[in-house]
Amino acid sequence: MKISKHRVAILDYTLTGEDGQVIDESHDGSFSYLHGAGNIIPGLEKALDGRKSGESLRVVIEAADAYGERDPARIQRVPRDRFPPAADLQAGMRFQAQSQEGHPQVVMLTAIEGPDIIVDANHPLAGRRLHFDVTILSVRSAKKEEITHRHVHGPGGHHH
Ligand code: ZN
Repeated sequence: MKISKHRVAILDYTLTGEDGQVIDESHDGSFSYLHGAGNIIPGLEKALDGRKSGESLRVVIEAADAYGERDPARIQRVPRDRFPPAADLQAGMRFQAQSQEGHPQVVMLTAIEGPDIIVDANHPLAGRRLHFDVTILSVRSAKKEEITHRHVHGPGGHHH
């Protein structure tokens, strides 16, 4: 069966950066997604369209078709006194904050500069060109409920 809209594919993959370092991988058949629902990055979804179960492919995806370009406007300087005084703040910490539009978002504390904290709301993989080695393990039709929910249910998917 071919991958197309409203089908579920189970994949094994290795994601590496330009430097060849492994960023993420899944090799036990536990990763699945619903095609055509924006479950995965656009460049990978495009590359998988029409591919058959059993196929392996290697794709390089530019940042714009992956997690987007890095936006300098999403890096902000925040006064230390906006954080709880007792908090043990360190570079690399992630926490939930509110965007200027009031949406919850995950930001990373990237540096402490005197009385200021530098936080970055860009996706950790923003601005990066990504390499995917993918093997398509199986493809099936999605259930009605999965199409409605826009995600996979059962093994490798949501349980609810
Ligand atoms: Zn659901």
